Amino acid sequence: MGIRFSDLRNELKKIKDNGNDYDSKLMNLLGMSEDEYEGWLKKRNQGLGSIQNQKKGYLCKTWKNKPIKFRLWYLKKYIKQSGLCEYCKVPQKFIRDIYNRRDGWREGNKKTQDNKKGTRGWSLEIDRRKPKRNYTVQNCVLVCYPCNNAKSDVFAEEEFKKIREPITAVWAKKVANLKNRKKRKVLEFIKNTKKLKSDKTIKDILKLK
Ligand SMILES: [Zn+2]
Repeated sequence: MGIRFSDLRNELKKIKDNGNDYDSKLMNLLGMSEDEYEGWLKKRNQGLGSIQNQKKGYLCKTWKNKPIKFRLWYLKKYIKQSGLCEYCKVPQKFIRDIYNRRDGWREGNKKTQDNKKGTRGWSLEIDRRKPKRNYTVQNCVLVCYPCNNAKSDVFAEEEFKKIREPITAVWAKKVANLKNRKKRKVLEFIKNTKKLKSDKTIKDILKLK
């Protein structure tokens, strides 16, 4: 396709989310038809389709029947969150590695009793900061599967802070236990993420400068 993700990121910043011609502007930019564009985004965000299906019934009006708009929102949010779970700061890109896909994700890691078989959990999911409110652009953030499950529709963002701290610590331990090349890659990524808030992140726990 020729266009690099970093270029797209810069362009995305310029385009306003609320314009009517938002979709066409971006497709124009990429020089793609709607089908090509959807396919391209799908490739970039594996599992995104399933999130969308999962939420189909009660997605906010902004996204309902507007798959491109939804994906763009997801992409922008993903970039804004530096590819990390909003709560525990685990990087989506490396969730598979952290679970150790070959012997952990599929069959369960015997040593740590990890197990992950289902279809959920591959991509960051959508969570409502305030569970009483609807799925709106303002109320939604991208979070990992364990955070989403733990927070459920019971805790508000503030209340969940105490619960997510140990989740972060366990992720950090898993990262620390990775081997060689995988570990280097994950650490490098985490090192380069911006510090988003004052919460303790994997970066802080592993004391990465
Ligand atoms: Zn999380």
